[in-house]
Amino acid sequence: MNKSLHRFYLSCAAAVSLLGASSFVQAQQPLAIADVHVHYSHDSVEMTPPQRVIEIMRAASLKFALVSSSDDNGTQLLSKLAPDLIIPGLRPYRRRGELSTWFTDPGALAYVEKLLATNRYASLGEFHLYGDDANLEIPQRIVELADQYNLILHAHSDAQAIDNLLALNPNVKVLWAHAGFDSPDEIAQMLTKHDRLWADLAFRGEVGSGGLDESWIKLFTDFPDRLMLGTDTYTPERIFYIPEQASSAREWLKALPDEIAERVAWKNAHDLLMPVWLANRDSDGMAAAGSPSASCEIADNDTAGTAVVMGGDLSVKIQPQSAIDVSAAFAVQLTLCGNDLRDTEIQLDATMPKHGHGMNYTPESTVTTHTDSQLSVRFDGVLLHMPGTWQWQVNVVRAGVQTALTHDFEIQ
Ligand SMILES: [Zn+2]
Repeated sequence: MNKSLHRFYLSCAAAVSLLGASSFVQAQQPLAIADVHVHYSHDSVEMTPPQRVIEIMRAASLKFALVSSSDDNGTQLLSKLAPDLIIPGLRPYRRRGELSTWFTDPGALAYVEKLLATNRYASLGEFHLYGDDANLEIPQRIVELADQYNLILHAHSDAQAIDNLLALNPNVKVLWAHAGFDSPDEIAQMLTKHDRLWADLAFRGEVGSGGLDESWIKLFTDFPDRLMLGTDTYTPERIFYIPEQASSAREWLKALPDEIAERVAWKNAHDLLMPVWLANRDSDGMAAAGSPSASCEIADNDTAGTAVVMGGDLSVKIQPQSAIDVSAAFAVQLTLCGNDLRDTEIQLDATMPKHGHGMNYTPESTVTTHTDSQLSVRFDGVLLHMPGTWQWQVNVVRAGVQTALTHDFEIQ
């Protein structure tokens, strides 16, 4: 399980000075991008294996992607391969070509209801729906299901259908695909009118081409929390456009203040989708296998080397799994608690600061729990070869930002 990501650092004098204080170091990484408009439909599955799709997404440095496919199989394949990367959405299409018939097709509704009973999702959509068709029986039922299953509606619609969908239910939230292909002024009107509306800018190549113009800058500035990015891989070959979409967005986002650029790049998508996805995913015990969620506040025993260390909004519980004897291997469980831990790695090292050396062995790390608010990693084969004062050094790298947490303890 991601062993390479949880490297156990061999210590050296340089590492000691680097990690000695609780410090924040900004690493150089490309701006994270969330792509909320990916389809991996049946013909796309035939053309590009799921492993390759995940490689493409990782190469594009995507933080996560909202994926919905016709049929749902493609979404499930990706989700199984990369649960840290894929947020599944369910669209009511069994095959390509149902976009203008689904809303009068009881078979499409039955298909949706069957999958909702089987799998977990964050959204219902992307579906195509215009004007008063939103008030037909099947779309009304879709809105009810969105409320019942805590799902965001992802609608490729005109403004009128968006008005209708939001009027059908006081709870549902809508992600407006392509922002309706409307102008910044029209989008602003809709975002002002509806506080349960967000919009993606998938397949809106004009938004940043040749630089971001004034009207778009104004829209992003006036609504910093409501807009997000997408590629729209509506044909199989467009899967290969995901990295280009991400790098082009990184370019035009430079016209915005960093904080807004980051919101549009991924934070708005994160804030809209991640709470829903994590709640739904874990709602029936489908959480990642491993230890149950644990608190970081109280240590479970008083073995030497046990500690809870805080730094910023992070806290880490360090727990040797048995009493520490000199030169005998033991296991250490690290439990990190905080926010936004999806893109986080944790490393454990032990050194003797007064002697300027560390351990002679490299333990094996295994991730036992990884959610948005908790990362637990077990390190087996930790061995301290001398009595005296040792120091745990826990290095956390969250979205490229490094935090070092230390704890001194004695062994005899
Ligand atoms: Zn689409």
